[in-house]
Amino acid sequence: MAFLDQNPGLGYPLVAGFGLLLGSFYNVVILRLPKRLVWEWKKDAREVLELPEVYDPPPPGIAVERSHCPHCKRQLSWYENIPLFSYLALRGRCRTCKTPISIQYPAVELLTMLVMLACVACFGFGWQGFGAMVFTSFLIILSGIDLRTQYLPDSLTLPLMWLGIIAASDNLYFPLKPSVLGAIAGFAALWLAGELHRQYQIVVKRVKVPEVGMAPGDMKLLAAIGAWVGLKGVLPVILLSSAVGAVFGSLWLLSKGQSLKIHIPFGPYLAIAGAIVFFSGDSLLQAYLRFSGLA
Ligand SMILES: [Zn+2]
Repeated sequence: MAFLDQNPGLGYPLVAGFGLLLGSFYNVVILRLPKRLVWEWKKDAREVLELPEVYDPPPPGIAVERSHCPHCKRQLSWYENIPLFSYLALRGRCRTCKTPISIQYPAVELLTMLVMLACVACFGFGWQGFGAMVFTSFLIILSGIDLRTQYLPDSLTLPLMWLGIIAASDNLYFPLKPSVLGAIAGFAALWLAGELHRQYQIVVKRVKVPEVGMAPGDMKLLAAIGAWVGLKGVLPVILLSSAVGAVFGSLWLLSKGQSLKIHIPFGPYLAIAGAIVFFSGDSLLQAYLRFSGLA
């Protein structure tokens, strides 16, 4: 680690290549994890409802099966599996059936590479840099899954929260207490906002069946982010995610031409805001306080 710190000319290309490989793995997780979860839920539901067993083979696992073209099912050879470069070399189309390859693949690979480089640029090649890579990796995968399926799986948000608390228990970025309080505040803030929205509908608007205020997945994601940015980072994350959400949300609605009724995934905005606050540390908060005349 110290060696890479002293030789950034070697460290950065290494991290860039590693980031591309990670990105292509995250693509697989984003595509396959939700299918696996739905399969498990169906299995559990059949058991609870005491329905007869049906033949339902599990969808492909995350690590074992090799990649294939989703259209013509041809297995990809190694040179079609090189992150980013294969997409560019194939000009975004399958070699045999010419079906366009989803832009998600190169986008996630490129994004992961850039984010991993940002992690070592901000935090160095030691444990802090490694922790930043873990945190941002979860955020990338969660955003991808939320955009595709509008789920934020507990199997990702909850471990991310524990990892943040574990990192703080060793004082990686700040002590344990702000991390635990950050997780609590993150969850509580969105729960409270959702509950107020629900009560408003029931009491003021006299709606019989109110809409759900906040998705539980969003609360757990903000709890996880709170563990990584600490108590004083939670409010900036909420403000920033609302701002980012307002901008992207309007663009999203304009581009899709849909009414405001549609559910817009909020997870990616929380993730973007969480990453910004995490990377900027105290400097963003200080700048805001100065700007608003509070300090
Ligand atoms: Zn094909």
